[in-house]
Amino acid sequence: MELLHAVEAMTSVVYAEFERGGHLLRSNAGFRRLLRGALSPWHLITQPTLATLVQRTPDPQGVVYQGLITVGNPQGEMVTLTGTVVVKGDHVELLAGYNIDEFEATEQQLLELNVALGETQRELGRSKRELERREEAIRQLSLTDALTGVGNRRHLDETLAAETVRAQRYTAPLSLVMLDIDHFKRVNDTWGHEAGDRVLQEVGAQLRRLLRQTDTASRMGGEEFVVLMPATALQDAVAGAERMRVALEQHVIDSVPPATASFGVASLLSGESGPALLARADKALYVAKNEGRNRVKAAA
Ligand code: GH3
Ligand code: MG
Ligand code: MG
Repeated sequence: MELLHAVEAMTSVVYAEFERGGHLLRSNAGFRRLLRGALSPWHLITQPTLATLVQRTPDPQGVVYQGLITVGNPQGEMVTLTGTVVVKGDHVELLAGYNIDEFEATEQQLLELNVALGETQRELGRSKRELERREEAIRQLSLTDALTGVGNRRHLDETLAAETVRAQRYTAPLSLVMLDIDHFKRVNDTWGHEAGDRVLQEVGAQLRRLLRQTDTASRMGGEEFVVLMPATALQDAVAGAERMRVALEQHVIDSVPPATASFGVASLLSGESGPALLARADKALYVAKNEGRNRVKAAA
């Protein structure tokens, strides 16, 4: 009984001794752990039941059963053990351990769950990136003028606000070119509104073609466009506007009426706001119109 003494405190091994009638004589920590509120330890063992086992004729060593033993407690928990049931006279002894195969199966299940979890997380990551991509596409659309492909008024307001803040903070130059197509009403009246739309599209395409990487072009409304040029001094912006003016003047496309534009250019003054810069460019544009159109004027 030395060994049984050692088994007393083990929880990985289940040991119990009953009277034939079912009365529990002694048990170890592993068995009591399984009990967990079971009224009758006798009924804890559900497959095979002790009641049927005690009916069997023991072998010379007293063994009546060897193999899998299913234990279930009132909480509905089921555990499969592997063990031996011995009958000695009036006593029934149970010695069992946890079924290693079941542990391995559980381990395998955990492994597979982990793999599935990893796959789900990767899937989630892909969906998130796709969502971000679509959000960005929608954002771009909401800032784009549908007819000309350049930025819309909202885009102009956003970039102008951001660029003036940046230019003021770093005392970096920021220039703005405003252009307005000359006698555009005449184009519409003579060639029709659709031809007018095609002129607007061509002007948008020309501006996009001529933009430098840091420049942004927007349609302010009607036949007015604005090109914002960060890190660009007034003289360079005037030269850029002149290139645009010549490009529009020389741009001839079948079935698109010829069009020129007038330009007003202004550079941000220290402490000046975005709208104030826009207003000075507008004033210069007005002067260009008055002086005969198809020309570039710099703000004073
Ligand atoms: P100016 O040289 O002084 O700028 O003369 P203008 O005729 O270009 O200027 P005005 O402001 O008198 O006319 C602008 C015209 O632009 C009138 C309007 O019908 C036309 N317009 C505004 N938006 C659109 C558009 O999206 N498509 C077309 N086809 N025409 C437009
Ligand atoms: Mg106009
Ligand atoms: Mg005009």
